[in-house]
Amino acid sequence: MEHVDALVLGGGAAGLFCGGRLAQRGRRVRVLDHSRKPAEKIRISGGGRCNFTNLETEPKCFLSENPHFAKSALARYTPWDFCSLMAEHGLTWHEKTLGQLFCDQKSGAVIDMLIEDLTAAGGVLALDTSIHEVRREGEAFRVQTSAGPITCDSLIVATGGLSIPKIGATGFAYELAQQFGHEVIPPRPALVPMTFTDDHRDAFSDMSGVSLAVEARAERGPGFAENMLFTHRGLSGPSVLQVSSYWHQSEAIAFDLLPGMNAIDLIRTAKADTPKQPVSQFLSQHFPGRFANYFPKELGLEKSTRLAELSNHQIDQFGQALKDWTLKPAGTEGWRTAEVTAGGVATDGLSSRTMESKFQPGLFFIGECVDVTGWLGGYNFQWAWASAAAAAEVA
Ligand SMILES: Cc1cc2nc3c(=O)[nH]c(=O)nc-3n(C[C@H](O)[C@H](O)[C@H](O)COP(=O)(O)OP(=O)(O)OC[C@H]3O[C@@H](n4cnc5c(N)ncnc54)[C@H](O)[C@@H]3O)c2cc1C
Repeated sequence: MEHVDALVLGGGAAGLFCGGRLAQRGRRVRVLDHSRKPAEKIRISGGGRCNFTNLETEPKCFLSENPHFAKSALARYTPWDFCSLMAEHGLTWHEKTLGQLFCDQKSGAVIDMLIEDLTAAGGVLALDTSIHEVRREGEAFRVQTSAGPITCDSLIVATGGLSIPKIGATGFAYELAQQFGHEVIPPRPALVPMTFTDDHRDAFSDMSGVSLAVEARAERGPGFAENMLFTHRGLSGPSVLQVSSYWHQSEAIAFDLLPGMNAIDLIRTAKADTPKQPVSQFLSQHFPGRFANYFPKELGLEKSTRLAELSNHQIDQFGQALKDWTLKPAGTEGWRTAEVTAGGVATDGLSSRTMESKFQPGLFFIGECVDVTGWLGGYNFQWAWASAAAAAEVA
């Protein structure tokens, strides 16, 4: 029977990184993955250039039932720590926007770096290996795999969340957590496009491809001032992906269509300066034509209605609608396109310093399977690195 000090289940971002750091500590390490290729999500991330961290990482950029849980790990392994690692391996990066760092080389270079660190320190990566059963055997764990049984002192679960099942995502971590007495916060698709109701699909049928600079907000959650995009099926774009993580079924999403501007003052001034201007023409100064032609309908106005025809009350309503335009999505596109999974292994059963189970000494959960979900923009990888580093100190 083979025995290792630390067995990492899942060779994705968190698992490979954790395995490498454990091996560098002198632990005998094996990382198992059921896929033929490791870390496929790194490969497809950031349009192939892996948005591997965010310089503006702060605990407020993460959702969890316990907003304090991520603080310790994030403070001890920072974006600059990962940048140093990249630099040691000769990798370079650039900031795109909002603190988002992308690798200048292809994302495969980040995977190669993680594998190199693991294997150079004596760790082993076993691919194409499925896990049949995990049980406690005294102080150790015994894991039955398609390559035979293996025992370990520390078992680190890094099998990720449910998004994109076609590249190997499974709910394995949740089942294992429940087997060992952990609560699982119901997983839900996050950073995911939203879908229209039938009524909205008809109303917005010619709007696909239109992009607006907005501030979007779910009923519970912060505002995100980024672009939104109309698609054939619904809404997408960074602001919509961000609010999708905070959205719950049958809630509305509110859009400030003129962020940072006083809409009522703008309309009043335009009415005074150019009273013969049609409302759609006024709107076209701020929005793409197709949206400018559509929006008057929201107020029961014709697009040819002239500003001069608007009463003070209508101007107030018009301004209010531009600052607080609400839509109720039918749902989300689901696991097929979700970038991450919100919810997961409940943090109150885990040590925030080490990610170790409070119920089962030697059992750790790291990365996306934990109920910690980052905003769009490199935060999810930063959580993968930070939680992996925390576990690797003690596992
Ligand atoms: C399209 C896309 C783009 C993304 N872009 C970014 C980005 O640019 N920046 C960012 O921060 N985040 C991004 N993310 C999110 C990021 O990829 C994840 O948050 C991150 O990979 C989570 O790391 P993890 O190690 O916890 O899980 P994963 O990286 O998903 O790794 C889990 C591993 O476990 C394996 N596994 C699963 N189930 C089993 C099982 N039953 N048995 C054995 N092995 C199993 C899987 O094959 C996989 O290799 C993106 C996600 C997607 C889908």
